[in-house]
Amino acid sequence: MKIGTPKEVFEGERRVAMTPESALQLQKLGHECLIETGAGAASGFDDAAYAAAGVEVVKTAAALWQAADVVAKVRAPDDTEMKRLRDGQTLISFFSPVADEAKMQAAAKKGATVVAMEMIPRISRAQKMDALSSMANIAGYRAVIEAGNNFGRFFTGQITAAGKVPPAKVLVVGAGVAGLAAIGTSTSLGAITLAFDVRPEVAEQVESMGAEFVYLDFEEEQTDGAATGGYASVSSPEFREAQLAKFRELAPDVDIVICTALIPNREAPELWTEDMVAAMKPGSVIVDLAAEKGGNCKQTVMDEKIVTENGVTIIGYTDFPSRMGTQASTLYSTNIRHLLTDLTPEKDGVINHNMEDDVIRGATIAHAEAVTFPPPPPKVA
Ligand code: NAD
Repeated sequence: MKIGTPKEVFEGERRVAMTPESALQLQKLGHECLIETGAGAASGFDDAAYAAAGVEVVKTAAALWQAADVVAKVRAPDDTEMKRLRDGQTLISFFSPVADEAKMQAAAKKGATVVAMEMIPRISRAQKMDALSSMANIAGYRAVIEAGNNFGRFFTGQITAAGKVPPAKVLVVGAGVAGLAAIGTSTSLGAITLAFDVRPEVAEQVESMGAEFVYLDFEEEQTDGAATGGYASVSSPEFREAQLAKFRELAPDVDIVICTALIPNREAPELWTEDMVAAMKPGSVIVDLAAEKGGNCKQTVMDEKIVTENGVTIIGYTDFPSRMGTQASTLYSTNIRHLLTDLTPEKDGVINHNMEDDVIRGATIAHAEAVTFPPPPPKVA
């Protein structure tokens, strides 16, 4: 089959879904690879590198969509790309089936198959294809780097001839994939790192990374808000109050806050309130990775950096993986390559879209002229 990757059309998007390295691996599965000219340029992969890896460089997006049996890309297709999607073609990309429901239905009607990368089930077997985790890992890392870039001091404490420098204090709110990456980055830079999550089972992980887990003075066990499937649910008002009281106590003392708290299918919980921002020292930095879902900090402005009256920088960028285009493309293209490995069981260049396979079924939102979202729950963990 011909696997083709077009240049991303979303403004400012630097990632690309195929790298020369992933193309070499795809060819070992018996596939031919195509790339639109310039598609990898923003992430450091030029046409010559693709050509050297045996990839055919195609001059236009229209020609690429026409020639490819499988189109692998990063962002959900825009209207022009939707027009190019055709009967019998497979599209693999991020594709929010709820927000983009009309597009999903249009794709099904056309007879195209759509695999939505954010729908890859989060089970052990599918970790190698889990693009949400790959991208969250990058976002967590980059959030700390971005905070450091906007912070006027060292992360690590130092004793120098010119004086003693105290270490920075970093609080990470939410210790999921992005939060743990932020914790790892912060401790490796030498900051005193604190972390909080409503899921108490992450305390051990947090502590094993050299950070301190923040416990609440809460009468019941700290399990309120922790829920099924490893994800959080909404906390009770009492638990939330205990959490906010603890954060109020920490606010004047922390230099950097990395917010990553999310609850599936909901707006982000507001956890870093205006009075906490007001209590922070001038020069402090908040990076709000929940910005796309409304933010954990109310003052966050999505996709912007603001400085409050008391000198606190609040960063609400939503494109952290794209800001690390080379790394993000390397990981994302590897996720895609693993998916295509499962879709090519005989390694003979023939796609077998096996809807009996939990992972393939779970991520497929349109197939055989039907919408196949939502999927049934996975049978294995
Ligand atoms: P997420 O992005 O949905 O949420 C981020 C974090 O915010 C979570 O840890 C959540 O508990 C926390 N949170 C929610 N409300 C909060 C509040 N009020 N205060 C503080 N923290 C709050 O989560 P995620 O990073 O996508 O991961 C969620 C779970 O999925 C984890 O258990 C993770 O281990 C699991 N996971 C499993 C796999 C796999 O098995 N393949 C892959 C990825 C993630």
